[in-house]
Amino acid sequence: MEFSDRTLKCIDCGLEFVFTAGEQLFFHDKQFKNDPRHCKQCKAKRTKGGPKVRPETRTTCSECKAETTVPFKPTQGRPVLCRSCFQKQLSKPKQAVEPIPIPGPSAVDVQVAAEDSQAEQQTLVEADSIPGPN
Ligand SMILES: [Zn+2]
Ligand SMILES: [Zn+2]
Repeated sequence: MEFSDRTLKCIDCGLEFVFTAGEQLFFHDKQFKNDPRHCKQCKAKRTKGGPKVRPETRTTCSECKAETTVPFKPTQGRPVLCRSCFQKQLSKPKQAVEPIPIPGPSAVDVQVAAEDSQAEQQTLVEADSIPGPN
């Protein structure tokens, strides 16, 4: 089959462009049934500026437990941060040493209160699961 240059019209900008014999041979080799519909400029624009589809994976932030999406596949066992937590991490000075909280009377009180409510909840669950007389 012989190929000769053909002039086609770009469907995007309406400009005529040459579909060269070499390109036609390439299309023939690849078994492309359709002629190219875009000139080189528009084709370049489309491939460069088109909407980029990034693989997004739904996951949970290991810091605030909010549902978030990440543009990569999270590795098992590695912490994943949502955008705001990630920003917080970034704004933290790298060499900063975490302040060790000194347990004062108020801190102890809060802990005890938390334990109390947990114990209460457990009691409730247990009471519910006790089978009735029938
Ligand atoms: Zn064009
Ligand atoms: Zn978060």
